[in-house]
Amino acid sequence: MRYISTRGQAPALSFEEVVLTGMAVDGGLYVPETVPQLSHEELAAMAGLSYAEIAFRVMKPFVGGEIDDDTFRGLVRDAYATFSHDAVVPLNQLDANHFLLELFHGPTLAFKDVALQLLGRILDHFLAKRGERAVIMGATSGDTGSAAIEGCRHCDHLDIFILHPHNRVSEVQRRQMTSVLADNVFNIAIEGNFDDAQAMVKASFADQAFLNGARLVAVNSINWARIMAQIVYYVAAGVALGAPHREVSFCVPSANFGNLFAGYMAYKMGLPVKQFIIATNANDILHRTLADNDFSKRELAATLAPSMDIVVSSNFERLLFDAYDRDGNAVRELLERFQQEPAVLAEAPLAKLREKFSSFSVDDDTILETIRDAHHRTKALLDPHTATGYRAAERARADAVTPMITLATAHPAKFAEAVVRAGFSGVPLPPHMDDLLEREERYTVLPAELKAVQSFIADNRR
Ligand SMILES: *Cc1c(COP(=O)(O)O)cnc(C)c1O
Repeated sequence: MRYISTRGQAPALSFEEVVLTGMAVDGGLYVPETVPQLSHEELAAMAGLSYAEIAFRVMKPFVGGEIDDDTFRGLVRDAYATFSHDAVVPLNQLDANHFLLELFHGPTLAFKDVALQLLGRILDHFLAKRGERAVIMGATSGDTGSAAIEGCRHCDHLDIFILHPHNRVSEVQRRQMTSVLADNVFNIAIEGNFDDAQAMVKASFADQAFLNGARLVAVNSINWARIMAQIVYYVAAGVALGAPHREVSFCVPSANFGNLFAGYMAYKMGLPVKQFIIATNANDILHRTLADNDFSKRELAATLAPSMDIVVSSNFERLLFDAYDRDGNAVRELLERFQQEPAVLAEAPLAKLREKFSSFSVDDDTILETIRDAHHRTKALLDPHTATGYRAAERARADAVTPMITLATAHPAKFAEAVVRAGFSGVPLPPHMDDLLEREERYTVLPAELKAVQSFIADNRR
């Protein structure tokens, strides 16, 4: 399997290279050159298999033989053994035809664990094979940092440095990162805001001289392996509800669009999907683009669903590449214009997207109302991100007969503040985490200065 850039001007890469690379040199994102197909028979044969076995079968063609089957099976099995539910990602039936796909049973209680538990293991495997070590660097305001740390804490060939804004992440989110005391995990609390932290990470990727030749790896959702791992749960849920014999629909709380793009890949591979609904919070660039052809940046709004607070939706570029019939030049022109000024999509690609995708945007008041309403009607306690999905599914579904699967992207205990504001007395952490607030923490406070951060990394990497 080879991977090509959405902007058409970077060299094609192998799976191993694409996992170690991140963004393409032409500024684009890597996608598989051809989409592997799951036949009717192959899908039907997945009914009743374990999640790990479905995962192996769905992902194998993307790996393209670059990891031998037994080893890859082992990596997949280990990754999903960290989940606290036997089904890994159980389906919870809310009413006659609306299901929640619970993606929050991993170590940090959000769906990013599904991809990052596997990505850490794949990276470690390739680095061991090459006899190399690598440094992971990332900035976080919450979910990604803790999921990346949990995914890499056991990796012998990786050192991970995660920057978070000092005193500006919730206590649960901070402790999920800082209570991991492994030798290769370094939490840096920056005396500044998230943008300061993000800017230092960007500058470090642009000029890596401070690492004296060590490899710097990105684990944000531009990394293809994260998308690949997420395709699996769409297939598993679809098959559990009757695919390939009947169609299903999905509603996905979306921000950078990595999650939903994985669903689109499952559809392209052969899963019969009737409709995808994009749910956004007030940061609604995806909804504006689809509904009004308004592809433009707006100022960031801080919402009750903070893991969906974005200005630009980076993985949308992967969908645009397909909508523009894989014309890298057209995508590059569109994205370059979009960086400078409000843009619009061409008519034909927009029409194509509207055939499969609907969208719906949910503001903060509606998130609170939806948490109450969903609990009243179904007894399910939703986190604020999942609440955007629940509301969007109810309002934007094309029909009542196709099973609707709303992706539950976080456990309500992780965002208890919003749940309390909705009128509930609180949400206990699951049993395996109930001592989180007593665990020992370790982190280093540094000024928001690039030099200070880079010397810390150079001095501490192993
Ligand atoms: C990251 C995240 C999202 C958004 O996912 P994308 O892949 O960026 O669209 C939604 N909900 C939660 C809880 C998240 O952590």
